[in-house]
Amino acid sequence: MPQCQNCQKEFTIYPEDREFYQKIEVPEPTWCPDCCLMRRLAFRNERNLYQRKCDATGKTIISLFQVDSPYKVYEPDYWWSDKWEPLEYGRDYDFSRGFFEQIEELFRQVPRAGVLSMRGAVNCDYCSSTLGKNCYLCFLWYGNDCLYCTWGLNVNDSVDLLHTEMCEICYQLTDARRCYNVKFSHQCYDCWDSAFLFDCRNCHDCFGGVNLRNTSYVFWGEKLSKEEYEQRLKTIDLGDYEQLEKYNQKYQEFKKQAIYRNLEYLKSINCHHCEYVDGCKNCYECFDLWRVEDSRYVYNSGECREAVNSSYFGMNSELAYECIGGGTGAYNLKFCETVRGSANMEYCAFCHNCHDCLACSGLQNKKYCLLNKQYGKKEYKELAEKIKKQAREQGEYGQFFPLRMALYPYNDSYAHVLFPKTQEEVVTMGGWWQDFQEKKEYSNQILTQDLPNHIREVSDDILDRTIICAESGRGFKIIKQELDFYQKHNLPLPRFHPEVRHQHRLNQRRARQFFKRKCSRCGKIVESTIAVADPRRVYCEDCYQKEIY
Ligand SMILES: [Zn+2]
Ligand SMILES: [Zn+2]
Repeated sequence: MPQCQNCQKEFTIYPEDREFYQKIEVPEPTWCPDCCLMRRLAFRNERNLYQRKCDATGKTIISLFQVDSPYKVYEPDYWWSDKWEPLEYGRDYDFSRGFFEQIEELFRQVPRAGVLSMRGAVNCDYCSSTLGKNCYLCFLWYGNDCLYCTWGLNVNDSVDLLHTEMCEICYQLTDARRCYNVKFSHQCYDCWDSAFLFDCRNCHDCFGGVNLRNTSYVFWGEKLSKEEYEQRLKTIDLGDYEQLEKYNQKYQEFKKQAIYRNLEYLKSINCHHCEYVDGCKNCYECFDLWRVEDSRYVYNSGECREAVNSSYFGMNSELAYECIGGGTGAYNLKFCETVRGSANMEYCAFCHNCHDCLACSGLQNKKYCLLNKQYGKKEYKELAEKIKKQAREQGEYGQFFPLRMALYPYNDSYAHVLFPKTQEEVVTMGGWWQDFQEKKEYSNQILTQDLPNHIREVSDDILDRTIICAESGRGFKIIKQELDFYQKHNLPLPRFHPEVRHQHRLNQRRARQFFKRKCSRCGKIVESTIAVADPRRVYCEDCYQKEIY
């Protein structure tokens, strides 16, 4: 059994893994899957935005890169324009020097877009990896008119969502699909006009319920007539913060009687050691996937097949190894960071619609490039093979980019969320760290206890105030579009900073850790992401199906 060269733990390379490495002609990994994931995620800043200057225009922009980042940063519109030429950074490969050394040198000179923007995003300046219009502080988002949402597809007119697909007019949801006008709910599919639901399917007009199926007019678990339900609902005013808080607490208590599945997945077959997979087939050790097939060690990805050791990847893509970000119609990518719509690319970063390139950064519509230098097809193939052969002998080919090349300080990257480390640990691993002093003094600030209790008492004046988060002390503002949403849907002002709200939503989800525990009904030992000491009722799939359906 090989020993991970990073954490020193032994890990298994399965025959299926081996078959894949042979197929794509890469050496076997020397880091375990978790360390590989950590290394890739160090190249991903999901949501920490900063104000800085564009290195081309001098304009103040919103960026994933801090002011003193070692990378050159352009505002997205300028980056996407033809006002600069990535091939101007092209250079010859020097066989007397290291592979990563030369890639690092190039990557630090070629400009990056301030955020991982997508071409075609409209009025989404404070977002990253977002495609749509009029979104604000959204990340990994495909949708319109959404605020503070993360990781979603085809969602409109919603606020505070996490992991949702095809939803509209929703507020404070995690893991929802095809919901309409649903609020304060988790793990719900095909529901509408409801609130405070957990693990419900195909329900409408329900207020307070767990494990409900194909029903309506349920009020805190009690099935009522339509008339009776409407009567009860008349007594409820969610625009009243105190009242809302009462219901929130009741919901948390109510959820304790729910039945939890040992693993949470939907319509997936032959998936093992997986959690939060939806419409997947033949996956192993994967987390947060939708419509992925024949993939292993994949995290947070959708719509791809034959992906191994990859994250934040997908959208109609095939064959990927050690990729972070990107996809979008990609084929055969190895060791790439945010490469989209491209084929046969290796060790490339932020390239779009290219094919057959090695060690390039920032290219669009190019082929046969090496260190951003253009070659003819034959010449490229020969040179690329020679470089790869030498880099393989030097032990570099087959590894993802080293941690020192991470685009962001470790503590700004998603790696720090999944694998929190101290500055010292990060530096020992070869990574880098950078603290950012957030300003603590805010002008025109207001404490949450001084906020109006009811949304109807809120005027536009609030847009000029900085609300001090009741939990973190961080200041945050309400934007007009947001206030309109709260007023229209009778919801009080939030009392917590958007990042704290995001964390609250994350806390509603399960962690990426597997335990062996007993089914609370039949006693069978099952794998679960709910810890053994957790008092919740956890059922094996058989028992869950018998009890709930
Ligand atoms: Zn390891
Ligand atoms: Zn059971």
